[in-house]
Amino acid sequence: MAQKRVLSGMRPTGRLHLGHLDGALANWLALSETHECYFFSADWHALTSEYADTASIHDNTREMIADWISVGLNPEKVTLFVQSDITQHAELYLILSMITPLPWALGCPTFKEQQEQIQDKDLNTLGFLGYPILQSADILLYRAHEVPVGQDQIPHIEITRDVARRFNNFFGDVLVIPKVKLTEVPKIPGTDGRKMSKSYGNTINLADTPKEVETKLRPMVTDPARKRRTDPGNPEICPVYTLWKAYETHENLEWVRTGCTTAGIGCIDCKMPLIKKINERLAPIQERRKEIDADPAKLDKVIADGNERARATAEATMADVRKAIKV
Ligand code: SF4
Repeated sequence: MAQKRVLSGMRPTGRLHLGHLDGALANWLALSETHECYFFSADWHALTSEYADTASIHDNTREMIADWISVGLNPEKVTLFVQSDITQHAELYLILSMITPLPWALGCPTFKEQQEQIQDKDLNTLGFLGYPILQSADILLYRAHEVPVGQDQIPHIEITRDVARRFNNFFGDVLVIPKVKLTEVPKIPGTDGRKMSKSYGNTINLADTPKEVETKLRPMVTDPARKRRTDPGNPEICPVYTLWKAYETHENLEWVRTGCTTAGIGCIDCKMPLIKKINERLAPIQERRKEIDADPAKLDKVIADGNERARATAEATMADVRKAIKV
């Protein structure tokens, strides 16, 4: 039986960190075993907020795709591509924007939310308003059956479904209506206890050396009530324990829980085996990354091959779209 197709993208922010590895990428790796996967660098999406400084977008895309491969995504099994290399995204975006009622875009909850949250950039642009429609074009172009998203992204997929239905009502059954594949991605805490994110400067990067991992993790925020070594702690509110849960077996978690709640172990005792575990996890990824960096032409070819496969799929959809709209 043919595998269902999924599509997912990531904004090119450069080298990746543990938040990506144990969040979206763990999910992508699992999907690559069961689905036909298209994963792309959403570099045009990056433009919606980074239009005033585009200098790093191209290099960030390469770095990010190299990291995808280093964590185990097999480019022969999944299609890895770059959004801006497939101009059909722009063409379908334009056509969909013609049929999308303005209130659908204006009513998208993330539009107002992000305009309020991101104060250092002027997001009062047509491009930013149209972002969910560009995302709809990304999905519909590949006739994806399912789109893996977290709860907060569901409104975007709802718009995509509405836009696709509206297109099909006007022009016949051309676009596949995608389904939400609700995926709970664990929130990996950064060293300050907030969600791990480059913009907070609290990341453990896939490229960090063992020494760097240790330097970052030793002072990591813990249960704030545990001030002295003799104070018992509460692992449930400790971000270090949340990291432990991402890496460890039940038995070792029990060691942390008991040690913490009885003050049997101190926070450094708790962090050191975790540091070791993270470094063991990163070592093979960094080895693979070295091999990728040693042969840049090979990475060029991986991206070119992915683009070619993506373009063929996108063009097949666009041929049907053009025929249907008769323009
Ligand atoms: S012992 Fe571990 S789980 Fe407990 S507060 Fe310290 S770092 Fe957190």
